Amino acid sequence: MTTSVPAQSADRPLVELREVSRAYGEGGPPALAGIDLTVMAGESLAVLGPSGSGKSTLLHLIAGLDRPSGGRVTVDGLRVDRLGEAASARYRRSRIGMVFQFFHLLDDLTVADNVLLPAQLAGVPRAEARHRAAELLARLGVARHADAYPGRLSGGERQRVAVARALMNRPPLLLADEPTGALDSASGDGVRELLASLNADGQTIVLVTHDLRLAEACATRTVELVDGRVAAEAAA
Ligand code: ADP
Repeated sequence: MTTSVPAQSADRPLVELREVSRAYGEGGPPALAGIDLTVMAGESLAVLGPSGSGKSTLLHLIAGLDRPSGGRVTVDGLRVDRLGEAASARYRRSRIGMVFQFFHLLDDLTVADNVLLPAQLAGVPRAEARHRAAELLARLGVARHADAYPGRLSGGERQRVAVARALMNRPPLLLADEPTGALDSASGDGVRELLASLNADGQTIVLVTHDLRLAEACATRTVELVDGRVAAEAAA
């Protein structure tokens, strides 16, 4: 299927971090210290590193959920570090999709309504949104659960639904925070394959993970953070 991800030119920087730092309070070492990082459209970048090395902080800065203490964060031409609250929410709605370790689905909405939600918030006409949601649920192999509530699904199925929701508004950038962290090994394999196939179809992905198998399966490049700095970088 070719309609689920945006077409992207491969030589365009989609994410650019320049001299980005983030300090929490006084005294302690900064969570991030002078990060320079570019992610090109079409890449799949895995950010690895030990616990406390700054991976989540980095993802939150790219998502506009947090602001750097210094430096610049540019995504899809937008200075994300300068957005006010409303613009930041609009940015998240239209330009990024997010997938989390524990899915963050709304348990009192059906699977289909969870996936529809981002389109509703963006004001997409209902018929068009329903068509898109059905297409995504089919692509991700969870169409038969459209009318079920998330509580009835396995972890792997919930994560597929969460990926469908994240892709609903055709974001140029998909962010994932330990997307296999709560899954058993078979479900983890399914999600690894899914992310790899989305990237093969052109979806740009930035994910943070401890899961080396995930990085191997679906990253075109990895960076390793240690103490808030890029310690190593490798092409897959
Ligand atoms: P990772 O995702 O690699 O485990 P984090 O980005 O969560 O790392 O954290 C990096 C550092 O910043 C850690 O030392 C952590 O304790 C600190 N930190 C993260 N969030 C906060 C916060 N809200 N307040 C204070 N310190 C924080």
